[in-house]
Amino acid sequence: MAIDAAVLRRDFPILQRSVNGSKLVYLDSAASAQKPGSVLAALDAFYRESYANVHRGAHTLSAEATDKYEAARARVARFVNAPSERSVVFVRNATEGINLVAHAWGRSALGAGDEIVVTVAEHHANLVPWHLLAAERGVRIRGVPLGSDGRVDMEALAAAIGPRTKLVATFHMSNVLGVINPLPRIAALAHAVGAFMLVDGAQAAAHLPVDVQASGADAYVISGHKLGGPSGIGALWVREELLRQWPPFMGGGEMIRHVEIDRSTYADIPMRFEAGTPAIAEAVGLHAALDYLDEVGRAEIWEHDKALARYAIERLRRLPGVTLYGPEGEDRGGIVPFNVDGVHPHDVASVLDAHGVAIRAGHHCAQPLMQALGVRGTARASFWLHTTTEEIDRLAEAVAEAREFFGAVA
Ligand code: PMP
Repeated sequence: MAIDAAVLRRDFPILQRSVNGSKLVYLDSAASAQKPGSVLAALDAFYRESYANVHRGAHTLSAEATDKYEAARARVARFVNAPSERSVVFVRNATEGINLVAHAWGRSALGAGDEIVVTVAEHHANLVPWHLLAAERGVRIRGVPLGSDGRVDMEALAAAIGPRTKLVATFHMSNVLGVINPLPRIAALAHAVGAFMLVDGAQAAAHLPVDVQASGADAYVISGHKLGGPSGIGALWVREELLRQWPPFMGGGEMIRHVEIDRSTYADIPMRFEAGTPAIAEAVGLHAALDYLDEVGRAEIWEHDKALARYAIERLRRLPGVTLYGPEGEDRGGIVPFNVDGVHPHDVASVLDAHGVAIRAGHHCAQPLMQALGVRGTARASFWLHTTTEEIDRLAEAVAEAREFFGAVA
């Protein structure tokens, strides 16, 4: 059934508020999603009724907290269709998940002359960890450009992958262009040369069904705060037979089997990668967020997203002096970057904010992509399950006003 965003938005308490005298229009879900009431209630109930540290105490609360924390792990596994929760590691966010791969796997598996293939449209979270690794290990990074259609150039990608390629690391959904990468095709190219395939699912997981097994990925990361869950929690899934071989990323409590004064042995997966007290309540909140998303239906969210993107592109295109970026089609979700001729994106965002419309402006942690597009930055409107076409109308009206306002003073 199609989504009724006007009804769903009632689930989000923050969407009832006003900003600068206007009803809030929140078009910045790609940066961080708002939280449904069920997530807030789950956090509140956990702290009121079941909070304690996990995996340690023999007391009832600790056992309850551990059960809930582990239930959240199983829920993440189900959410991405992982074969088992053993290979789901809780991390702080997608960034930490990628850094975990770079440290635990990258430092032991990569050496001088090895190559990492990424695309120009990666988020900095999927570039900088590889830069750090490259500086340490003498690894070479190859960037694949976009084709003339605004999608990753698959021919260039195939040409960049060769016998020295050890890792192909790319996004599932671009946080700027809203476009989906054809993961099975990319994974096939990576696996043909025996390379590891890491997928940055930070953006995609909130917008469409994720099936890590069908995707062909060896690792897939998600971030709780983009899914309507709390910040401070994310998850990394890694193919179990690979994860089992990886050394720890950080040392400390919870991740050990046995410790002596000068040596230790390490716990089995996934605990080996979860040193210290984890984000316990945040995992419980994430569980509630994933339940909410599946109740709404991810296939339905994706259809809604695509329809909103089409509507916004159509609406903004009619405005003179507005440039839109990104491809159009069935692989394009609800993220619409744009620029207004002669107006800095931050100024566009400020005028919109004065109308209660929240968007993002800047390089979106994707400077190589900005360079490829030939811009310093863009404004970016991003939609989610609670976004209505009326809100996109308000966006378009405010953009028209921004143009007029700055046109008048230019
Ligand atoms: N990758 C993509 C595609 C993203 O959109 C983001 C968040 N903007 C990240 C990675 C990083 O996510 P986080 O800040 O939650 O680690």
